[in-house]
Amino acid sequence: MNSYFLNGKTAFVTGGSRGIGASIVKRLVKDGAAVAFTYANSAQKASELVKSIEAEGGRALAIRANSENADSVKSAVAEAINTLGHLNILVNNAGILDVKPYDQFTMDEFDKTVAVNIRAVFAAVQEAGPKMQSGDRIINIGSVNADVTGFPGMSLYSMSKAAVAAMTRGLARDLAPQGVTVNNIQPGPVDTDMNPAKGEMATVLKDVIALGRYGTANDIASFVSFLSSSEASYITGASLDINGGFMI
Ligand code: NDP
Repeated sequence: MNSYFLNGKTAFVTGGSRGIGASIVKRLVKDGAAVAFTYANSAQKASELVKSIEAEGGRALAIRANSENADSVKSAVAEAINTLGHLNILVNNAGILDVKPYDQFTMDEFDKTVAVNIRAVFAAVQEAGPKMQSGDRIINIGSVNADVTGFPGMSLYSMSKAAVAAMTRGLARDLAPQGVTVNNIQPGPVDTDMNPAKGEMATVLKDVIALGRYGTANDIASFVSFLSSSEASYITGASLDINGGFMI
């Protein structure tokens, strides 16, 4: 595949300042796209990412938009389109992981997980989708926890990622007449601030990964790159696992 196959295309990535989102931003730029991304708190990391991309001749735009607020997400999508032009690729990556025994969650915490992990995804698609055209892509970042839950405390997170998988199927039907595909990538454990490969959860998790290691953010970015390409035009509504053989 030509390494600049996204030349002239634009992308919007939520939660692009760190972790998997930052790798997706860098990869889509490397593939030739101009990329806008959101962040909530990491202003410095967001600005450093833009600078490093610009230093190498790429185009990136950082927009502060807290995914807890659907209107902020919609405004960020609109700003990206105003600045970069027609949007070809929407990646809903921003997410939070709140692990706790079910009886210790407050209802505000329940609402926060729903807002960031589910509601913001829908808001971004509502803003971007109607303007998208044949060949354009929507890619959600779900989780293996939509299907399997290996230890306690994951009730809210698992619920939210199962909702993303189901929403993906519905949206794929809704956007198919426009020729827009909608897919859901479900990573297993990936080494980021959310789930460090040297963190507390790692000892348990590594034992149930067939390949015996955490995934890297670049592993996930490669998959996003493929799904963004014309090679992936017959894939839609799918929840696709990328997990090194997690709990198989
Ligand atoms: P990180 O916590 O490392 O990074 C999260 C990113 O999302 C940051 O850029 C952060 O921005 C942004 N973000 C968080 N909350 C908000 C918010 N309210 N509004 C806007 N942006 C926000 O997470 P990962 O990179 O590990 O995870 C990315 C996605 O991948 C998530 O959806 C997660 O559920 C999923 N995933 C991760 C796995 C893992 O093992 N790491 C496994 C399976 C799925 P800021 O820097 O400003 O805080």
